[in-house]
Amino acid sequence: MTAPPAPGRLSGKTCLITGGAQGIGRATAERFAAEGARLVLGDVDGEALDKLAAELTATGAEVRTVTGDVADPGAAYRMTDAAMEDYGRLDVLVANAGVLPLQRITEATPQDWDHVMAVDGRGMFLSCKYAIEAMLPNRGGSIVCLSSISGLAGQESQSTYGPAKFVASGLTLHLAVEWAAHGIRVNAVAPGTIRTERVRRLPEEPGGAEYLADIAKRHPIGRIGEPGEVAAAICFLASDDASFITGAILPVDGGYLAQ
Ligand code: NAD
Repeated sequence: MTAPPAPGRLSGKTCLITGGAQGIGRATAERFAAEGARLVLGDVDGEALDKLAAELTATGAEVRTVTGDVADPGAAYRMTDAAMEDYGRLDVLVANAGVLPLQRITEATPQDWDHVMAVDGRGMFLSCKYAIEAMLPNRGGSIVCLSSISGLAGQESQSTYGPAKFVASGLTLHLAVEWAAHGIRVNAVAPGTIRTERVRRLPEEPGGAEYLADIAKRHPIGRIGEPGEVAAAICFLASDDASFITGAILPVDGGYLAQ
């Protein structure tokens, strides 16, 4: 007789991942599915979402998808609501959806600022707000926000994106204190440069190849990171293994912030 599979770290937990179709979100979805989570994946890219959902379902995972823009309150609400409607509860939110423009302030327009703040700022606020409202009746839950090294320190060409990531760091600290007594933990990861679809496109942009070559050298480990390395840290913070950790912003950066 073969032994039953060992329960995963997220067995029985309903987990919403925004921006789940590619990059760090996709790697997190794959990791969470392997750890036994029931998934709700939200993203603007419905086609990519459906493709990933089919792949994960084929491995035996339970997956729902919601296509929509996290900056839109109606769409952000639908992502949480899908977890409540389909699974009856929400245990984990990974607030990951984001846009990552590379811009100096002299190149950035007011519209650029509004766009990154809408997606990375308001989108994260909305995702956290609706998730906390859904978690309150269970008196428990875990949120992991995607901050960045540029949400904790100054960097070149991050004049719009960097401040939006400081919003992610700020939300993490404030919400952690606000909801700790209700059993809801709020943490963040602060990745260094990670080889996602977004970063792979950088060499096509003016100055992007130079930026990438330079930033890779600035990570003491001597390379940029892989999406799975961030997903592993997100999984730890989301799981009960991190039951006494809230308000932490964990660098996943090859030593970048240690300098
Ligand atoms: P990516 O562009 O590869 O993937 C982002 C995903 O979010 C895509 O599937 C995209 O369709 C989705 N998305 C974008 N706007 C959305 C919106 N308005 N509503 C819903 N979904 C939306 O990006 P990535 O590199 O995987 O980044 C993911 C997160 O990690 C972001 O929050 C980013 O700031 C953070 N991060 C990335 C890096 C890095 O180097 N890649 C470093 C630090 C932090």
